[in-house]
Amino acid sequence: MIEPRRYTGRKVAVMGFGRSGSSTAHVLQRLETNVFVWDDDPVKRAQATAEGFRVLDLTATSWQDIACVVWSPGIPHTFPAPHPVAQRARAAGVVLVCDVELLMQSEPVASCVGITGTNGKSTTTSLLTHILSYASRPVGAGGNLGLPVLALPQLESNGVYVIELSSYQLELTPSLALDVAVLLNISSDHLSQHGGIEGYVAAKRRLFAGLKQGGTAVLSVDDQNSAALHEFLSSRGFNIIPISVVKPVCGGVYLSGGLLWDNTNGARAVADLTAAKALPGLHNKQNAAAAFATARVLGIEHAVIAAALQTFPGLPHRQELVDVIDGIRYVNDSKATNADAAAKAMTCYEVLYWIVGGQAKEGGITALVSLFPRVRHAFLIGEAAPTFARTLLEWHVSYTPCGTLAVAVERAHTLATRERRPGAVVLLSPACASWDQFDDFEHRGSVFQRHVAALPGRREDPR
Ligand code: ADP
Repeated sequence: MIEPRRYTGRKVAVMGFGRSGSSTAHVLQRLETNVFVWDDDPVKRAQATAEGFRVLDLTATSWQDIACVVWSPGIPHTFPAPHPVAQRARAAGVVLVCDVELLMQSEPVASCVGITGTNGKSTTTSLLTHILSYASRPVGAGGNLGLPVLALPQLESNGVYVIELSSYQLELTPSLALDVAVLLNISSDHLSQHGGIEGYVAAKRRLFAGLKQGGTAVLSVDDQNSAALHEFLSSRGFNIIPISVVKPVCGGVYLSGGLLWDNTNGARAVADLTAAKALPGLHNKQNAAAAFATARVLGIEHAVIAAALQTFPGLPHRQELVDVIDGIRYVNDSKATNADAAAKAMTCYEVLYWIVGGQAKEGGITALVSLFPRVRHAFLIGEAAPTFARTLLEWHVSYTPCGTLAVAVERAHTLATRERRPGAVVLLSPACASWDQFDDFEHRGSVFQRHVAALPGRREDPR
């Protein structure tokens, strides 16, 4: 367990009693910090009381003597509207931090890697963790993915903390001190929480301000915003390993002809990514390039990284191949909660029996029109069904309104089995939030898996 002792004997407010807030409160309490908890949700407040914490109404407190407020990054504090608690804390001169800041303040002797980007953070965090474990390096992965960071073990100097950092966490970690800072990409997501693209880019730029002296920046040069950051960092003399999946890059790691090339010290092909089953699509090649470059900085041999890439099992709910029945693949991509993410998966398969719908995002599925020729048939679920049906009708894509995921799986199976097209895939890639019918995307993905497991037919090993 991490031990942030700076606040022992002092008063600290914990805002938000979810997974990370609860973990922070417990760690601080154990270190004899005077912990007060607040959550806007009365159920969470009751839970905090039941776990022995004092609940303090932060919307009404005087803030006197409070050393800092540990903010749960899931709670927007500035945009789209300032949170009243954040406003009051700032007015009283109390600093807002997140749990990653407490990890940094504990000055770990292990190396620290921070991974950010609009998309691919969890996959890259998990892939790098896999590579490091494969290379027998002690590793603790946390942040957005996996354990809350304060629940990670204390690592020695040969260990590595791999921390997934959202833009919100970056804003709340003023003492960030990274050995490697990884930026995967920047697209125009989450803009409302950052007051526009400039605010969002500024949040991502903070990652590099948090590099230790002599640390290395690993960043993509494939999108405009990231490329501009690359130029900026180059002009400031940073150590940089650029990565690309669309062109060779000088001094960097890139994809060409399905192979990963390391050009940091003369170009050489280092890994065959066509054989990495759990990393389908160009987007995953970007994640692989970033993980590869970072692992090299941490001293892992080429051959070891290449072997680890082949054995990466992938993350659940992200193009996860759950079954092969009578030659038809069943793929769970429940994490695709918007059209952009669904496009990444749809691009990977030629013959789609597509399960789509839920709570629609702005723009619905119109951004996917160019991929519609791959769709043999769509199976509509959830609230978005009538709207999506209109789009599909307009583009002459056949569809069936199914209502529930259970019906959709059953209908998709029946049609795909009847048609027996080579390369057929039943794909759950909903392009929607899940909250109309499920607790979250994980719940939706698990329900899909359960229904697929109940289907009849001859099974093959999906691995
Ligand atoms: P995050 O943690 O940033 O949300 P994940 O690794 O969980 O990202 O991936 C979520 C979805 O984002 C994936 O299902 C895929 O559709 C898409 N994605 C993954 N990696 C990338 C990438 N490098 N670029 C663009 N999209 C990606």
